[in-house]
Amino acid sequence: MQKIAMKMPLVEMDGDEMTRVLWKWIKEMLLEPYIDLKTEYYDLGLPHRDETDDQVTVDAALATEKYGVAVKCATITPNAQRVEEYHLKQMWKSPNGTIRAMLDGTVFRAPIIVDGVEPTVRTWKAPITIARHAYGDIYKNTELKIPGPGKAELVFTAQDGTVTRATIHDFKGPGIVQGVHNLDSSISSFARACFDYALDTKQDLWFSTKDTISKQYDHNFKDIFADIYEAEYKQRFDEAGIEYFYTLIDDAVARVIRSKGGFIWACKNYDGDVMSDMLATAFGSLSMMTSVLVSPTGKYEYEAAHGTVTRHYYRYLKGEETGTNPVATIFAWTGALRKRGQLDDLPDLCAFADKLEKATLDTIESGVMTGDLAAIFNRPATSVTSRVFLQAIADRL
Ligand code: NAP
Ligand code: MG
Repeated sequence: MQKIAMKMPLVEMDGDEMTRVLWKWIKEMLLEPYIDLKTEYYDLGLPHRDETDDQVTVDAALATEKYGVAVKCATITPNAQRVEEYHLKQMWKSPNGTIRAMLDGTVFRAPIIVDGVEPTVRTWKAPITIARHAYGDIYKNTELKIPGPGKAELVFTAQDGTVTRATIHDFKGPGIVQGVHNLDSSISSFARACFDYALDTKQDLWFSTKDTISKQYDHNFKDIFADIYEAEYKQRFDEAGIEYFYTLIDDAVARVIRSKGGFIWACKNYDGDVMSDMLATAFGSLSMMTSVLVSPTGKYEYEAAHGTVTRHYYRYLKGEETGTNPVATIFAWTGALRKRGQLDDLPDLCAFADKLEKATLDTIESGVMTGDLAAIFNRPATSVTSRVFLQAIADRL
């Protein structure tokens, strides 16, 4: 059989622990037999990040800028315990944080739907994609404990020395205050990434904040979205037959639960953090959640939403066969290959991505799956190891 050819390389970012093991198996068993795989390889495994003083992460992000499509394996974000475990030179920053900051991207997360794994919410028939703004708000806050009576103020000193002040509270006793910010430039990038993604995937876009209470801060988000939509996107949305609408977050929550799914829900940083975990769990499992980072200039980085599955890895190191679910990592590859195929006009590559996804879902629907899914499957299921599951997909493919 002739292998499917590629024109431009995919940026491949290898990672850590159990997902690094799955990564190798997915390539060997599901990709390399069929595709003449062209990748530019970056080893983001923690030992190599440490060796290169994390330069490899920066290089991988630059390569993504250059080639436009990347696929990333889960990686360890080091904490104090990891510094000891891996004898690290320092506590390197989260690779995802570094890449996100360099690409100025928005993260879109969507569950993989499979017949047999029923969402907790009966009415959901299609995936709900969360678009999370990944800059600012409480993730870049300044906090103070107020020890006792006194006045807390917001003070802004302009470059020309003009001072603007506003009272936060006249404290009569102890309390707390918090300062948060965001940037018009970042909110605009977020808005464009959401509008582009909605057009790209032909889904409606919802956006929600709490602008009735936060009349300047949240209202600024609402206004920027509205201005950009009217000026740059309205006509294209009309042509594509999709809709953008803004609603209060309380209303959005109620509508989401009553909906059939099949749309994108754009959220501020904190709302997106919390709601994406809620949606992942309500749709079935974190191991079935895909994630793609989209930059405002249209660069894509695909990954699984889960981590490196450390507990399984320690069992694997002891020689045990684990049933770690590879589905989200497979879908990271198919997402990236399909996007490469679309950009390079390679219909065979796109078709391959479709077939691999179908083979994966059909295998599960036939009753063969890893333990995490078997535990929530609504029919009798055979729980198998990762390798047996991958082989079953390969046979079907
Ligand atoms: P995790 O790797 O997502 O795993 C947490 C638990 O969820 C696992 O122990 C397992 O439960 C279950 N699970 C997750 N993915 C699974 C899969 N594919 N198949 C089967 N079960 C799965 O999160 P963590 O243990 O909190 O973090 C481990 C490491 O990953 C950390 O070093 C963290 O920094 C890193 N991390 C990386 C990313 C990323 O690169 N995007 C994201 C999150 C975390 P059971 O043990 O009960 O089976
Ligand atoms: Mg979270």
